[in-house]
Parts: sequence; structure tokens; C-alpha cells
Amino acid sequence: MTGMGRQSSRKPDRKVSADRDVVALGIAAAAIIMFVGTGGTVLPQIMRSWAGVGSGPSSLLINAVLLNIALIIFGWRRYKELLGEIDERRQAEELARELAETDPLTGCLNRRSIADEADRLIARQHEVDGSVAFLMIDLDNFKQVNDYYGHSNGDRLLTTVAERIGALLPRDGILARLGGDEFACLIPWNGTGEDSVSTFAARLVEKVSTPVWMDDHPVEITVSIGIAHSDEEVTSSTTLMHNADVAMYHAKKIGKNRCCWFEPSLENALRLRQKLEQGIRRGLERDEFIPFYEQQVDLKSGRLTGFEMLARWDNPDMLGTGPAAFIPVAEEMGLIADLSFQVIGKALDDAKDWDPSLTLSVNISPFQLRDPWFSQKLLKLLVEHNFPPERLDVEITENALLENVGLVRSMIASLRNQGVRISLDDFGTGYSSLAQLRSLPFDRLKIDRSFVSELREDGSGAKIVDAIIRLGDGLSMPVTAEGVEDEIILDALRRFEHLKAQGYHFGRPEPASAVRSRLAALGLLAVNTDIEAPATETAEPQIRRMQA
Ligand code: C2E
Ligand code: CA
Ligand code: CA
Repeated sequence: MTGMGRQSSRKPDRKVSADRDVVALGIAAAAIIMFVGTGGTVLPQIMRSWAGVGSGPSSLLINAVLLNIALIIFGWRRYKELLGEIDERRQAEELARELAETDPLTGCLNRRSIADEADRLIARQHEVDGSVAFLMIDLDNFKQVNDYYGHSNGDRLLTTVAERIGALLPRDGILARLGGDEFACLIPWNGTGEDSVSTFAARLVEKVSTPVWMDDHPVEITVSIGIAHSDEEVTSSTTLMHNADVAMYHAKKIGKNRCCWFEPSLENALRLRQKLEQGIRRGLERDEFIPFYEQQVDLKSGRLTGFEMLARWDNPDMLGTGPAAFIPVAEEMGLIADLSFQVIGKALDDAKDWDPSLTLSVNISPFQLRDPWFSQKLLKLLVEHNFPPERLDVEITENALLENVGLVRSMIASLRNQGVRISLDDFGTGYSSLAQLRSLPFDRLKIDRSFVSELREDGSGAKIVDAIIRLGDGLSMPVTAEGVEDEIILDALRRFEHLKAQGYHFGRPEPASAVRSRLAALGLLAVNTDIEAPATETAEPQIRRMQA
């Protein structure tokens, strides 16, 4: 067993090579015997001829000896060549076997080998009255690290993780890399109590997350681990690995950076998740993500100032799946940028028909801000859709500031230079410091709706709303209150000056067609825009269901 993963000890089949050794050796031996025979006659004749006591050997015999010598040399060289060939072949076979069984990057076993090992151990589990535990180990957010720091750093990280797991692996454990950022351990287990395996998994979670230095930055990568074990029902590596996979997805779902044991009830959750992932992929291809719009209102004048775009999934099989469910999955799948630009593109086209005084707010995920080209891509989209940057408001959440304030700062600066406005969304729920707030040039703060809804009770939420509005005043950042659900909240907010508000009280998020009708009634459609006919009959029931 190597430090990182057990290697198989099977030897290559040497029978054929041995046969060839014998043939080559046979040729050389026959030539030597013949040489001894002919040489035995010729040599004494030569000696005698030199001594002047006899005639020399016949030329026929000399030729036969010379031929023999040539044969010996030929046989010997052939023998050496064959030895070389056999050696090369042996090495090639060894390499092929290693490649078939191990992962070239980390030297660990690969998926097929660990599955074979699992089957072998499961088959023997009755004899030894034991079981085998399988740990499915998946790095959290590896894709982002890979994209951000480059593939060679990504490879280095994978090797480091393999080394860290290998260092903790029990003596009879086996480590494999299944592909990408997925590792697995197989541990023979006595089946009583889950302690030893759980302790191992908990130590893995802790040790693997020690920061790794990349481009002078400490990068902390965490792992999610799913554990399953074999028993009377789980009798194949396929089921064992599937169960561990299910448990691993559950570990991810409930917050990552942890381990979970498999339970049959987790199966449904995984099926749902897979449906969601497949659905998102297909939905993007079929252009199913569409913008809905929520009104934003100036409280003092009651005037409509613009709309916040909220993504919706236009697919009857996915009814009720809102952005709070599909956005995080798209983020994890690395598809959030595609999804986001798809809906923003549509929103820009929709908003061109609105009165130019109306703004369009869009939500941008922290994942998108990790892309150093994000601002250029967004500005390019604006140009392509011929949309004035001054009418666009980009909402980013406080969490986006956690990761790389430097990058976010330069991104904000380049967007603002072009006239785009930036709002800090869900303010109060994250960890942004006052110093950060002062140094980052936001145009607006949006108070999270969890505080706003508490205005009903006039409890601590009300004090927080009060404090945030004052803070906004102090920093010269105007404030929007979101989640205004009823008249009571609205009244509570009226005592503040210069406040924008949005929420169900002003209307639920609605599709583009409904926005156009609303704007047409208010005389707020752009000039040259034809008054919208009501939505088509086929689209309308679907949209009503989505609004419900
Ligand atoms: P958010 O940006 O805080 O958006 C406001 C959410 O609150 C929306 O939920 C909206 O429908 C809901 N809401 C509005 N008024 C009220 C109210 O009075 N009461 C209550 N209880 N809720 C209200 P939605 O549309 O489900 O979106 C959830 C979150 O998903 C959004 O929160 C936003 O963070 C995210 N999201 C939506 N669309 C996108 C998108 O295109 N890109 C990204 N990255 N995130 C998006
Ligand atoms: Ca928002
Ligand atoms: Ca919000």
C-alpha cells in the first residue's frame, strides 16, 4: 500500500515471454554445440598445419566454423534483443495496468479499482463477520477555485487533498479518486457502532480544510462526506456507492463541510435534486427562464420608479420552483452566469418599452462577481440590447463582499463609471462592516424584508429599520425597504423621508405582459411603443399559476 492509495499486487502474465526466452536461448545453445563439434575437428587440424605436421582443414570445414561463429553472434544478439524487448513489454504492461487501476494525478486507485475492491470485501464479509464502510468525499466549491486560480493550482489542490486524506487513512483503508473533485475511501469495518468511521470522517472534514496557499492567498476548501455501509441488503459496490452518494448530497444540502450517514429516506431528496439539475440544464437550452417584475415605489410621492427583475422558471413540471430553490443549484452547477445573462437579456428588451424614467434592478449572484470579466460582460450585454446603463441598477448581497472585496470594489467602480447604479441587497443580514460600507461606493441600501416585516409589531426590527435608515442618511446612501406587505408596514415607513419601497402591498411580481398593461394604463410606456394587446390565451393560465 502506498501512502495515498493501495496499489494492486497482481503480476503480469510472463508465460509468453518465458517461451520466447527459451527459443532464443535454444538457438544460441545449438550454435554453441555445433561450434564445439566442428571447432573440435577444425582447431586441431589448424594447430597441426601450423606445426608443419599435417595439412590444414578443408575450406568447407572452415566455412562451416565461420558460419557457426556467425550463428553464435547472431543467436547471442537476438537473445539480448529479445531480453530488451521483453523488458520493455513488461514495463508497458505494468504501466497499462497502473493506468487502468490508478488515477494519474494523485496516484490513488481509480473508480473501477475501488469498486472491484469493494465487491471483493463485500463477498468476504460473511467469512470475517464484518462489513465495509464507503465514504464518498466531495470538495465543496472546487469548480470556483479551479476557475479562479487556474487548472494547475486546481491540480495541486487535488494532490494536497489526496495527501491529507491518505495521511489519516486507517492501515487497512483504501483511497481512490473517482474523478474531478470526488474522492472515496473504503474501510473494512466490524459493523458494531459507527464511531471509528465517524471519527475518521470528522477528522477528514477538519484536516482537509486547512488553508492551501494559492497565488499568495490562503484558500480554504471544505469537503462534504457521505457514508454508507454494506449489510444483508447492500451486497454490491454499485448500491454501496450509490448510497454513499445520496448521503453526500444530503451533507451538501444541509450546509456542506460535514459528513452524513446514509438513510433510505434521503433517496427522495436526491432524486429531486437530480431532477432539478437536469431541469436547469434543459431549461437553459430551451430558454425557459423568464423575468418577472416587482414594482418599486417612491414612498413620498407614491410614484412608480422602476421594477426589480426576479427570475421565474417557465416550465409546467417545475411549477412552484422559485428562484430561492433553483438559483443556489444553478450556482453550484456553475450555470448561474448563463441563467442570469439569459434573463437579464430578456429584461433589457422588455424594459426598453417602458418610459425612460423607469429603472430596472437586477440581482447578481456572488458567484458571478468572482468572474473578473463580469462588468465587461454586463456592459457588453447593455450595448447589444441598446439599453442605457443609467437605467440599470445592479443588486448585490452583502455576502458577495465576504470573498474578495478588492475584486468587487474594482467591479463596482467600472460599472459605476459607465453609469450603472449599485445597490447593497438584503442589508442587515450579512457581515459588511461600517468601514467596508464607507469604502464601497454603493448607490443604495436595501433593508432586508425580515426587518421590515417586523415593523408590524414595532419590536426590535423597527429599531433596526430606523437605525439602517439613519445609517443610510449618514453615508448619503438612499434606502429601499423591501417586503412591504400591508398598510400597517407602509404607515410605519411613512415617517421616513426619501424612502423607496417595494413588496406585495404594491403588487406581486408579474410578467412582462402585465407590466406593459400596467404601464399603458399609467401612460408610462415609451413613446413609439404600441399599446400592448393582452397576453395570449395560451401563455396567460401558465403565468397565473406561476404568480399564485
Ligand atoms: P430578493 O432579491 O430579496 O428578492 C425579493 C424576494 O422577496 C422575491 O422573492 C420577492 O418575490 C419576495 N417578496 C417581494 N415582496 C415581498 C413581500 O411583501 N413579502 C414577502 N414575503 N416576500 C416578498 P423571489 O422572487 O422568490 O426571489 C427570491 C430571491 O431569489 C431573491 O431575493 C433573489 O435573491 C433571488 N433571485 C431572484 N431572481 C434572481 C436572479 O435573476 N439572479 C439572482 N442571482 N438571484 C435572483
Ligand atoms: Ca434583490
Ligand atoms: Ca432582497
